Amino acid sequence: MSLLVVGSVAFDDVRTPFGEVRGVLGGSATYFGIAASYFADVNLVAVVGDDFTDESLDLFRTHRVNIDGLERRSGKTFRWSGEYGFDLKEATTHATHLNVFETFEPKLPASYRACPYVFLANIDPVLQRQVLEQMEAPELVACDTMNFWIEGKPKELKETLRHVDILTINDSEARELASQPNIYEAAQAILAMGPSALIVKRGEYGALMFNEEKVFAIPAYPLEAVFDPTGAGDSFAGGFMGYLANVRNVTDATLRQAIIMGSVMASFNVEAFSLDRLRAVTYDEILERFKAFRRLVHFEDIGSGELAVQRLMI
Ligand code: AMP
Repeated sequence: MSLLVVGSVAFDDVRTPFGEVRGVLGGSATYFGIAASYFADVNLVAVVGDDFTDESLDLFRTHRVNIDGLERRSGKTFRWSGEYGFDLKEATTHATHLNVFETFEPKLPASYRACPYVFLANIDPVLQRQVLEQMEAPELVACDTMNFWIEGKPKELKETLRHVDILTINDSEARELASQPNIYEAAQAILAMGPSALIVKRGEYGALMFNEEKVFAIPAYPLEAVFDPTGAGDSFAGGFMGYLANVRNVTDATLRQAIIMGSVMASFNVEAFSLDRLRAVTYDEILERFKAFRRLVHFEDIGSGELAVQRLMI
């Protein structure tokens, strides 16, 4: 089943306590597209500069990501530089150079317009809307954003959110978007902005999904080695949307399975810098980690805890 993603394709400079890389391939659409490519046909919309190498295009080709919608313009490719501290929680952004994104106006190839599933990766909310306006009648629209846009273009972002079914966002960003420190209250406020489901990404603590009155929680996979959290959110979204596009049936159960698949892809991504691990993962490894996740969170057959509760009630 096919999936469309619009977002950034970037060169990143990243420093973590375990090392530093400069000018490596990154970008929200890149991480999303490669993660989703294990499950669905991905059509990518983005722009790069004339400094973008053919070698980087190969990554998309080998993962059969359709790049008909990847525009090449004269100028420099989007560049982001950031750093993570020892808790590897949130990046401190040192620089965001929009470069060719500054004048980008996405134009969808005709073959992209009927895509049923859409992911608006982290990018200017005005561009996200322009893409939606060119789509025929998408069945499911998911969206990501970040503090850069929450602070820089709040009105435009809220307009985009009116057309979104699922928002995936970090917990600090959810609080900021809703101007509400309590995450439950923040979720209710965000659901009132348009999305019918909200996924709050909590880094090494996993993710929460709010829909209607329900909340679903999943931990992150406890890894022996985490090198670089860059792209964790986008590879999560790629696994999540790729899985949904694959089963093409959105129910409470498939949403929960998709959240686990998103967490699986994010867990691989953080094991190496850039896309070094994500690009090389195998289907057996994906299935094995999905099972490991199930074991991690499974507690239905360990008893109900009733005795302890009765003791407290005496
Ligand atoms: P994530 O860690 O999943 O939030 O995403 C990391 C990727 O987002 C990096 O590879 C960056 O190139 C990209 N990125 C950072 N800031 C922005 C921004 N303002 N707009 C679009 N993409 C960005």
